[in-house]
Amino acid sequence: MAVLQPAASLANARRPALFGAALLLLLGSGIGPLFGQAAPPAAQPQAAPPPGSFAARVVEIERSLVESSPRLKRLPAAKRKALIEFVIGNILFVSTHELGHGVLAELELPNLGHDEDAADNFAILTALKVGTGFSDRVLIEAAKGWYLSDLRDKATGEKPEYYDAHGMNLQRAYQIICMMVGANPDKFKELADLTKMPEDRQASCKTDFTFMALSWETLLKPYLRAPDQPKQKIELSYGDAKGKLAVYAKTFRELRLLETFAELIDERYNWPRPFSMEMLECGEVGANWRARKLRICYEMAQEFAELYRDYGDKLKSVQPQSKTKKKKT
Ligand SMILES: [Zn+2]
Repeated sequence: MAVLQPAASLANARRPALFGAALLLLLGSGIGPLFGQAAPPAAQPQAAPPPGSFAARVVEIERSLVESSPRLKRLPAAKRKALIEFVIGNILFVSTHELGHGVLAELELPNLGHDEDAADNFAILTALKVGTGFSDRVLIEAAKGWYLSDLRDKATGEKPEYYDAHGMNLQRAYQIICMMVGANPDKFKELADLTKMPEDRQASCKTDFTFMALSWETLLKPYLRAPDQPKQKIELSYGDAKGKLAVYAKTFRELRLLETFAELIDERYNWPRPFSMEMLECGEVGANWRARKLRICYEMAQEFAELYRDYGDKLKSVQPQSKTKKKKT
């Protein structure tokens, strides 16, 4: 059930380039800061995150990483921040995707579509439900991740695997945008326009989102935790790591990433059995849910960092005038 699979795109060459530019533009636009507070209106200055919040810990982590890493210190501040946000945003999306597999398995839910699509939709819906500038940006970072994965696969000659259980990278990116604009056309129309999603698709995304949200909400309703119901035991652990991975072990432990995530999902659902979540050095890139255990490998965070390092500059390759082009209906 690993979330990342090499795959290539079915989309044409122009659309992905615009997609990347659009996501880059949104870094400083009305969508709001990934690690800031709830989404502010466009053109307002970014507010400092609330003291003690996850977002505030991210800011602190960035400071500490700069002090301990000469390589990171050499990067321009904006690029350094973007890199850290990219890695953490993608790890959060991956974690929620894997939890989607866990929800399907633990609650023994029916699923009429592909398992991997359902897990992606669970992650997207979870973030949309949180509904802050932070969670919006997690989704945007994940979409950027699929876009850059597509660029990487093309550059390295990785062939598309049409039989794969996962969708193609760009399809997964556009599914995120589709659900965002479907959930809230006013808020995310600019994003969908910038990624050149046609008007008629934006309209049908509303239907897709409504049906997806209704399906998940109907299935999950019996398992929503009432305030008087006890919380479940979720065991958390961070493995030690050496060499290049040591920085990820330290970062996620200090961020209290698992603790923050566990608090959210324990609050929301009445889990039938205890389970565990672990971050560790695996010897390979991966993340999965197996036997009531969510495992996220530090190698996956490293891969996201390398993906951004090697291809992140491609996000700057197209200028913003592309956003004014409207689609024909
Ligand atoms: Zn999966």
